[in-house]
Amino acid sequence: MGTVVISIDAELGWGFHDYPARDRPTDRIERSRWGWERLAEILDQFRIPATWAVVGHLFERECNGAHVGHPSPPGWFAHERGEDPMPERFRFAPDLVSRLVDSRVDHDIGAHTYSHVELDADYATEPLARAECARAIEAAEALGIELDSFVFPRNRVGHRATLAEAGFVCYRGQAPETTADGPYTGPLRKLAQATVVADPPPLVEPTVDEHGLVNVPASLYLFGFEGPARRLLSRTVGDPVVRQARLGVDAAADGEGVCHLWLHPNNLTTAADLDRVRAICAHIDRRREAADLRVETMRTVAARAAPDDHSVVSRD
Ligand SMILES: [Zn+2]
Ligand SMILES: [Zn+2]
Repeated sequence: MGTVVISIDAELGWGFHDYPARDRPTDRIERSRWGWERLAEILDQFRIPATWAVVGHLFERECNGAHVGHPSPPGWFAHERGEDPMPERFRFAPDLVSRLVDSRVDHDIGAHTYSHVELDADYATEPLARAECARAIEAAEALGIELDSFVFPRNRVGHRATLAEAGFVCYRGQAPETTADGPYTGPLRKLAQATVVADPPPLVEPTVDEHGLVNVPASLYLFGFEGPARRLLSRTVGDPVVRQARLGVDAAADGEGVCHLWLHPNNLTTAADLDRVRAICAHIDRRREAADLRVETMRTVAARAAPDDHSVVSRD
């Protein structure tokens, strides 16, 4: 029996705070609460539980922007301070998180570090990695939430031993490289996959790493195919991402393996973006009705994949 997993990198204003202010995609940030709420509604409508990997700072209710003692690089929290700080609605979100917890589907609330640190970057020291885990866990606990699942900012995998020590159970690993057979490579291959070839995205298998963490790799990013090519194809053959995601869901429904789809709430800025997610969720729901298809979160998949003797390190 195959499985569909959806994971969501939930970051509001934290996804781009390390960019110079002029390079931040302000339209995506401005729409990020809207996208979050619409995504939660669609998942609720189709009763699809998802893993929401939330930037830990969003669990907070307030802060003064100082973060004294947090071993981050100089200026890391500068966007919270000064004359024109980033608005609070993009830095705090206990309201949005609480609504997820109270929703009628059993979402898995996970972590996306505390302040969107790329854990394989040069500045990501061991003390910083440890602090990012500890602070996220503490802020979530204050809302009564226990974190098991972890998504690395920008999928930059690092400090896995520290994650395991902190008590995380699983993470989203990078998608397998698709084999470059056939005449198409690079962007052309992407286009060919979505139109002519119509390859399903890779199904993945959870594996347990040397630290006891379960890796639930990604299959397909739902917003990796944008711009003029998307618009052109959408007018002719329909949304190519919907088509590819459906193939992945069908492959999972027809066999074994995990079809792991992922996105950010701030990918959703237009009605067409919502249509894409709604079409994919509707297809998942249809296939679940008709076949033995599991629709699960990273936490649930990891619980089944972990060896029987695998016990979660206690957080004391
Ligand atoms: Zn802060
Ligand atoms: Zn992110």
